[in-house]
Amino acid sequence: MGGLGEVGRNMTVFEYNGKLLIVDCGVLFPEEHQPGIDVILPDFTSLQGRWDDVVGIVLTHGHEDHIGGVPYLLRERPDIPLIGSQLTLAFISAKLVEHKITPVTVHVEAEDLHQAGPFELEFVAVNHSIPDALAVAIRTPAGLILHTGDFKMDQFPLDGRITDLRHFARLGEEGVDMFLTDSTNAEVPGFTISERDLTPAIDQVFATAPKRIIVSSFASHVHRIQQVLDSAHAAGRKVAFVGRSMVKNMGIARELEYLNIPRGLVVDFKKLQSMPDNKVTLICTGSQGEPMAALSRMASGTHQIKLGADDTVLMASSLIPGNENAIYGIINKFTDLGVKVVHKGNAKVHVSGHASAGELVYCYNIVKPTHVMPVHGESKHLHANAELAVKTGVDPKRVLVVKDGTTVDLVNGQAKVSGQVEAGLVYVDGHTVGKVTEETLKERTMLQEGGAITIVALVDPDSNQLAEPLEFVTKGFIQDKQVFNAAAEKVKAALAKPDNAGIDDLEDLERLITDTVGRHLDRTYRRSPLITTVVIDA
Ligand SMILES: [Zn+2]
Repeated sequence: MGGLGEVGRNMTVFEYNGKLLIVDCGVLFPEEHQPGIDVILPDFTSLQGRWDDVVGIVLTHGHEDHIGGVPYLLRERPDIPLIGSQLTLAFISAKLVEHKITPVTVHVEAEDLHQAGPFELEFVAVNHSIPDALAVAIRTPAGLILHTGDFKMDQFPLDGRITDLRHFARLGEEGVDMFLTDSTNAEVPGFTISERDLTPAIDQVFATAPKRIIVSSFASHVHRIQQVLDSAHAAGRKVAFVGRSMVKNMGIARELEYLNIPRGLVVDFKKLQSMPDNKVTLICTGSQGEPMAALSRMASGTHQIKLGADDTVLMASSLIPGNENAIYGIINKFTDLGVKVVHKGNAKVHVSGHASAGELVYCYNIVKPTHVMPVHGESKHLHANAELAVKTGVDPKRVLVVKDGTTVDLVNGQAKVSGQVEAGLVYVDGHTVGKVTEETLKERTMLQEGGAITIVALVDPDSNQLAEPLEFVTKGFIQDKQVFNAAAEKVKAALAKPDNAGIDDLEDLERLITDTVGRHLDRTYRRSPLITTVVIDA
């Protein structure tokens, strides 16, 4: 339903004997050509009328691109059980409070078996950039499926919880009929290095920064933040969390003991303001350049925390494609303020949360699946992952590279593509869901690029000729009388054509004027503003 052909809104639906099991329901973040959009959801159209058949939603881990769509899905039926690990359920439950939904939750751990309708679920520990991630094996009489969720194979993770390859192997021995694997880093050769390898670079920042240190990271990256806390503690600094999601998530992680905070290390932000600069560490959100997040507002001087010469910003996070401009913009603004910026481009302060090609190959060789379906990625990632599977000896005909909405049947251990369901992008825009269409976005882009022109035309209904000169009102378009005088002449000429004298529909007349002006502006000025014409009978 999502995540095949894009990085985000991951969602898979399994059906057996009329019952449905959902694995993950995430959001996709908008790009520059989708202005105003908050998040993008999977398309639930094909599930309408089937909500009572859903026996549960397995949440593999607590990242937004895996749980962010759940509040919208539960609007359809709030009592669908959410099945996941402790931290995952804590993160989604906190999110659901904001949506005024109290979920039904089923807490599972690695090694647990859980029967959800006809699906026997078995959970496997996997390592990822958030603690407590799980892969899920799904057993039905039709076959055994193994879905990795997001994972990597850090051999020295901070919590010692590694991806359980022994468990993968046991399932492999039993016979995995379909293996769904994380494709995000399939193009990256070799192995993803350990989180621990970042310690020297982070320590270096804390050992040398003369004034305040501001760290930005994902609000869910508990282990990265743990490393920062440890370095801060060792350097004799105090720490405050800044930003709503950072404060909320770290509160949850601390309460559930995923985060180990020495006594007195973390203090309230207000208390920190009275301390000497070289004792101060702030951990905030906004590592992707989100304009409203703390980091971006600090860079533009609109946050209550004002940074200046010799302060240090440590961006301990990835650079998600599409966000580059926003992030470079922030780095430049900080640099202009005299702030030193340490980021993955100039120091080893980030590693990926996903398995590289080497790790994926290991998994194929250990599991020896009959079929493979690469998930989580754009087309190039899915195909790179498929190639790896084939390299390890999986029959190419049994490697299914499919896109969002494709249905695949698994019968007697044999899989084949069987059809397609609706899988369009569903836009969340403020409080509306699915109301913004592709047409709306096209209009927004036109407004952004060319501005808007409203034309008021007073027309004699008998002759279809202008009763008064056209009136042009512009927003974001050049205000030049000459431009519009020429356009008005074109409209006059168009209305004078005998063919057009007979138009008796106001909308047709409006379209004629809009198109005439639009063509003129495009030809003469290479601009395509959003044009609206209102015709009034004189
Ligand atoms: Zn993830």
